[in-house]
Amino acid sequence: MDFAAARAAMVERQIVARGIADPHVLAAMGEVAREAFVPPAQLARTYEDGPLPIEAGQTISQPYIVALMVEAAGVAPGATVLEIGAGSGYAAAILGRIASRVVAIERHAELAELAAARMRRLGYGNVEIVHGDGSAGWPDEAPFDAILAAASGSHVPQVLLDQLRVGGQLVMPIGGTHEIQDLVRVTRVDTDAFERESLCPVRFVPLIGAAGWTGK
Ligand code: SAH
Repeated sequence: MDFAAARAAMVERQIVARGIADPHVLAAMGEVAREAFVPPAQLARTYEDGPLPIEAGQTISQPYIVALMVEAAGVAPGATVLEIGAGSGYAAAILGRIASRVVAIERHAELAELAAARMRRLGYGNVEIVHGDGSAGWPDEAPFDAILAAASGSHVPQVLLDQLRVGGQLVMPIGGTHEIQDLVRVTRVDTDAFERESLCPVRFVPLIGAAGWTGK
């Protein structure tokens, strides 16, 4: 299988065609070898237009959703970014091609180990994979220019908003566990002022952790 050709076609047909225009996002989506992030059994489906099953019963996000979230969060060169729910590490790798520093937290040890090994193998030295509960963020390196949650919650945890730099943006799916959720963007416009917008309907696995899902 010609992965490079499949990747180029993915960028044009799934990403550019749907209106993603940020040149940094398009370059990163064209560079990161998604085939290095999927389990062997899914290799032939690597560049399909959808999520795929990965280890520990989790999923690697659809390429378009990764591109949309990174663009929506305004991730730019020089940024420090937090991702909650590293999973395969694919979105963290995309973030790492654009930002200066990425911390990506994953609650499944098996996934965190696989993702960390991929970062080493691919040479993404600015991406740190942390094993643990990311629902309380990563106060050690806050504030962040952007925070992406790749798992859904009933609400945006305040503890995450507190870790955003003024002017920074958080993107997270909000809604019920087995329902269509709403991808929202929260911008910290001032120390105590946040603006929330709804971007599009999505479906993610739930954020499980101390500050995560609390029901309705
Ligand atoms: N960004 C990933 C998609 C991950 S799917 C990719 O590009 O492939 C969401 C991930 O969030 C799952 O792996 C799940 O284990 C993880 N997750 C759920 N709750 C979490 C929490 N509280 N802290 C860290 N990871 C969590």
